[in-house]
Amino acid sequence: MLEIKKKDQIIVLSGKDKGKNGEVIKVLRKDDKVSKILVRGINMASKHKKPTRNDPGGIVKKELPIDVSKVMLVCPGCSKPTRIKVNITEGGKFRVCKKCGQTIV
Ligand SMILES: [Zn+2]
Repeated sequence: MLEIKKKDQIIVLSGKDKGKNGEVIKVLRKDDKVSKILVRGINMASKHKKPTRNDPGGIVKKELPIDVSKVMLVCPGCSKPTRIKVNITEGGKFRVCKKCGQTIV
């Protein structure tokens, strides 16, 4: 399964934001697997906020989580959407781009 981490660049594969890139700002896990992610500027929802004494209110835009199956990681080495493989060495687990072989930290 695709391992996605905070600060990764991803590209959206389907839905209204198809083809857009963004940075992962939050990873949501379910049963220890990445299930949904929040991506900056992707899947935005507008919320009307009522004004309060300290807040003028108005429309607040907020990212909604998207399913991890709808995105693909963008490799920082070759800048292409890619699948990764996980290399396990004595030093730990590393994600490696299947296209260019770059280690993705
Ligand atoms: Zn690459």
